Amino acid sequence: MPEAADSALEQPSPSAESAPAARDELVPPRVLLVEDEPGIVDFVRRGLEADGFVVEAALDGVAGERLALGGDFDAVVLDLMLPGRSGLDILETVRSAKPSMPVIVLTARGEIEDRVAGLNAGAVDYLVKPFSLAELVARVRAHLRVVEQASASNLRGEDIEVNLLTRKAHRGGRPVTLSTTEFELLVYLLRHHGQVLSREQILSAVWGYEHDPATNVVDVYVGYLRRKLGQPDDPAPIFTVRSVGYRLGSTS
Ligand code: CA
Repeated sequence: MPEAADSALEQPSPSAESAPAARDELVPPRVLLVEDEPGIVDFVRRGLEADGFVVEAALDGVAGERLALGGDFDAVVLDLMLPGRSGLDILETVRSAKPSMPVIVLTARGEIEDRVAGLNAGAVDYLVKPFSLAELVARVRAHLRVVEQASASNLRGEDIEVNLLTRKAHRGGRPVTLSTTEFELLVYLLRHHGQVLSREQILSAVWGYEHDPATNVVDVYVGYLRRKLGQPDDPAPIFTVRSVGYRLGSTS
């Protein structure tokens, strides 16, 4: 009888191929740990890995800075006293290159007093050694959540940005004050960045009910938005698509 060759051995390759579809949302957060004491590296690495993080460690300031700037990390845990380049210098560079990256500083007792001003300028948090691993892990998690919420609540298109939580709008970094309806209209246009939207689509999405088809309310509000977002030498990137409607962005 063909004691059929281990069929189990044949399984892995085809099923492994079909797995990646759902993986994107499961990608573990990546943390860069910059710390020159191997004992602390091991301790922190084990704690973070046990909690589902992927950890890469740099044992000196030069490698730490290079990885912080070039690597694809979600957070940095940074010691201050490092060979090669100080933690505060690294903090400053990371702050200007990657302003939204959370940096959690590890300091020895005594370092902190001298450096409060520097820390205030750049670190989201700090822990004084010896610290509790559970606390470090919890803080890293908490700061990652803040970053996630902030990016989920921002919409961008061209040089326009709105925050759906604070309901603030900016163009080219300049704050723009909008009425509720203007804000909703801008959000709708940003969500469909580059698409041509008919007046009817805009009406039902923003005003939410059947209007007299002859109403010019969409045109009126697009006019308000253009005026508020535009500058004399830099008109708002909201284009009229003749006999159809409007489009935000993408002139081609
Ligand atoms: Ca150190």
